[in-house]
Amino acid sequence: MTHKELLDFDKQHIWHPYTSATNPLEVFHVESATGCNIRLNDGRELIDGMSSWWAAVHGYNHPVLNNAIQKQTEKMSHIMFGGLTHQPAVELAKLLVKITPEEFTKVFYCDSGSVAVEVAMKMALQYWHAKGESSKNEFLTIKNGYHGDTWHAMSVCDPVNGMHSIFNKRLSIQNFVSQPQVAFNEQWDDSDFFEMESVIEAKGDKIAAVILEPIVQGAGGMWFYHPEYLNKLSACCKKHNILLIFDEIATGFGRTGELFAMNHTNIVPDILCLGKAITGGYMSFATTMCTDDIANTISSAEPGVFMHGPTFMGNPLACAVAVASINLLLETEWQKRVKNIEKQLIAGLERAKKLASVKSVRVLGAIGVIEMHEAVDMKTIQPMFVKEGIWIRPFGRMVYTMPPFIITDKEISVLTEKMVKVLTNL
Ligand SMILES: *Cc1c(COP(=O)(O)O)cnc(C)c1O
Repeated sequence: MTHKELLDFDKQHIWHPYTSATNPLEVFHVESATGCNIRLNDGRELIDGMSSWWAAVHGYNHPVLNNAIQKQTEKMSHIMFGGLTHQPAVELAKLLVKITPEEFTKVFYCDSGSVAVEVAMKMALQYWHAKGESSKNEFLTIKNGYHGDTWHAMSVCDPVNGMHSIFNKRLSIQNFVSQPQVAFNEQWDDSDFFEMESVIEAKGDKIAAVILEPIVQGAGGMWFYHPEYLNKLSACCKKHNILLIFDEIATGFGRTGELFAMNHTNIVPDILCLGKAITGGYMSFATTMCTDDIANTISSAEPGVFMHGPTFMGNPLACAVAVASINLLLETEWQKRVKNIEKQLIAGLERAKKLASVKSVRVLGAIGVIEMHEAVDMKTIQPMFVKEGIWIRPFGRMVYTMPPFIITDKEISVLTEKMVKVLTNL
């Protein structure tokens, strides 16, 4: 198949994320990727600014991760998890229990982030069912959140960005409050929590759980909010008998400068979702972790089991590469690296603030965001980034980067310089 035939077939038959089947945007043909470098079929090389949507924290084609997955292939690529277990699954659970707060004792393996969110929501409902409080069956969240594309995950995504209205009222109606306004590094103001508090006070007996992304709202708005919001939320949830679910699918494994975003706070939620970077970007995989209280309560009442179990649960390849990826992260000076990326992103994106088209620029850990006044035109901007030799994939008004942690100083300075250049020339 020639390059042109491949692209033509793709255009005719393949649906890409959030695209039209009849009028798709241009896609670029990737040949391979190594380190922080994406190599296109025509020989052009792009510096990766996206980590394949938060996931590839160690870059691509890493020998340690390649080796882990190859070695596991020789033993078994997959085996059902019903009635069977294996070393990679146990090793991974051991690691996860060790690196998360001690309250998280139980690990449920999922095949993707969206599924991890579904599982977390099911756990919350089954918990209250087991307690004989079935009227606690609604969820509460903040606007501009993103929790995945499956049915109930979608119901707690931002109602406007997530276009809830097009689903003809079949999507569960959840409770939304405004997005926290006090930014991560601003002075905390108690009034930022008032709306959440008043909804909890008014509707607490109906609410099973509050679900949100701690500190960093990712795909729903690329916003960094104040840790005190979460401290207040945790206390308020405890007072009103509401569970707290943290979706750390994007923030987990070092991205914000802490191993988990909740480490910026003093609190621990009841249920925790991890995904994306868990396998270093090698395979689709995620996990939902919970406390003894959640697990024991669910298991103590009819039907006595947690009602979930996907076909590919605990996939050995995914578990093996996740173990290798987490160990690799912990063995490196990741915290220093993320700090260094943060410093360079701040310096490199500073110039964007001068552009009239730019509303604000913010950086936290290895995440750099340029918020525009108007949504960018993807048809125009995407080829411009490629022409400059960088891979940046904006959405709406957000032009942002979360590069692999292995990115070099030189690569970050080129990446940020070209990002600003493209926005200048737009
Ligand atoms: C990406 C993401 C999800 C969904 O994960 P998938 O693997 O795409 O299903 C859920 N929550 C957050 C915060 C995410 O960033």
